[in-house]
Amino acid sequence: MPPLRHHKVALAPDLSELDERAARAWTEPMAVRPLGGGCYAVESESDREYTVDVLDGRCTCPDYRYRGVRCKHRRRVAIEITRGRVPPPGKRVADCAHCGHESFVPETADPPLCEDCRVEPGDVVVDRETADTLVVERVRSARADEYVIEATGRTVAAHPTNHDYPADDVVVDAVYLGDSLRADDPRVYAFPYSRLSRTEDAAVV
Ligand SMILES: [Zn+2]
Ligand SMILES: [Zn+2]
Repeated sequence: MPPLRHHKVALAPDLSELDERAARAWTEPMAVRPLGGGCYAVESESDREYTVDVLDGRCTCPDYRYRGVRCKHRRRVAIEITRGRVPPPGKRVADCAHCGHESFVPETADPPLCEDCRVEPGDVVVDRETADTLVVERVRSARADEYVIEATGRTVAAHPTNHDYPADDVVVDAVYLGDSLRADDPRVYAFPYSRLSRTEDAAVV
């Protein structure tokens, strides 16, 4: 989601100040659908569909292709991105793999995690069971009751110390901070997401 802005703003421009194409970008009924890779399909009022490439500044409509103007479709996509109605280039709409909240996440994020739940490789986290400090290696899209720990032949959820954590948690691979400082190739352990708290959360507890 775009950051909340607390200062006073007008949401619509003064249409009388805009040229015709700019005004139509605001007022015409159009449907904008993200296609990924910075491209958006724009269904116009006349039911024609054009593709806008935001990164290249192109559109497939005649106005852009033959007249080279900044068409209403390009403007409309910019408006919808700015207002948070469609994700900006590089992001997509996804349900968070942990809390289910729908938000814009990096296009390549797998599993998708919302801003509140996001953990990334290199993040320092604390094991709620032992208070050990660990460093995140990766977040897996597999659930704790699906992912089998090779050393034990059991799933992460089936591990005795993980019984108190949701079986449908995503799995987080992490190494103990001490190991990561001492060894070049520290052993990686798999945890249910909820067992690890981010250090800023841990400081509150
Ligand atoms: Zn166009
Ligand atoms: Zn979330």
